[in-house]
Amino acid sequence: MAAEPPAAEPLATPVFDAHTHLDAMATRAGLEPDDAFVAKVMAEAAAVGVVAAVTVGDTVASSEWCVRAANGHPDVYATVAVHPTEIAGLDDAGYSVLERLADDPRVVAIGETGLDYYWDRTEPAEQQEHFRRHIALAKRVGKALMIHDRDAHADVLRILREEGAPDRVVFHAFSGDADLARECVAAGYVLSFPGVITFKNAPQLRAAAAVTPVDRVLVETDAPFLTPHPWRGRPNAPRLLPATVRALAAAGGHDLDELCATVTETGRRVYGNVIVG
Ligand SMILES: [Zn+2]
Repeated sequence: MAAEPPAAEPLATPVFDAHTHLDAMATRAGLEPDDAFVAKVMAEAAAVGVVAAVTVGDTVASSEWCVRAANGHPDVYATVAVHPTEIAGLDDAGYSVLERLADDPRVVAIGETGLDYYWDRTEPAEQQEHFRRHIALAKRVGKALMIHDRDAHADVLRILREEGAPDRVVFHAFSGDADLARECVAAGYVLSFPGVITFKNAPQLRAAAAVTPVDRVLVETDAPFLTPHPWRGRPNAPRLLPATVRALAAAGGHDLDELCATVTETGRRVYGNVIVG
């Protein structure tokens, strides 16, 4: 494992990390994902102005972990779901656990769920059926839907239309171009931008940011993945989010402090009146 990068330059106006995997951060670093680990990550993040984080479930077990972590730290919130590449074996018993967890007041969204046609681990038809069940769950519990869309833009949008999208939909790690961004904005969705927006080879993502209104964006690390430039290839962490926020401000033509304040407001609107303070 490469050495951990230092913290990013602090932000003057606080912001929150809309999508991270605190459990995977620990296990990838060979550490125990315990309360002390979470407290350390969140303290380092707060020191640079990243004052809250949403830790995202991608299996039943990780969803249970996320809900525990969110109940153990005042600035951590959780989501619950099974990731489209992890759905093999997900049955009614698994859904009852997700359903019970989803009611926890610290759970702010159902996700990450969606379609992933990049990794051919699971059949598209099977993924689509589970995506529909997650959409239904989000509507039943009245929480946001957090979408994972990898190489599956058209089918994700089609299924949302067919099922009737929940009121609040977030495209996590948005990976489309300006046309897809316009389509998502027209449908009322929120786009969460990851560290990829700092990469030299991602001009289309910056073009997408340029056509997305400031009140429709969130920012995320997806830690330990998608580490922003100049730390690409090393493990990501919420304390590196300021680099992504600055790149998004530049791409979208936003004032940095206004962007941070608006992201917090959007977080409250999408995830409920609990995020950031
Ligand atoms: Zn993720």
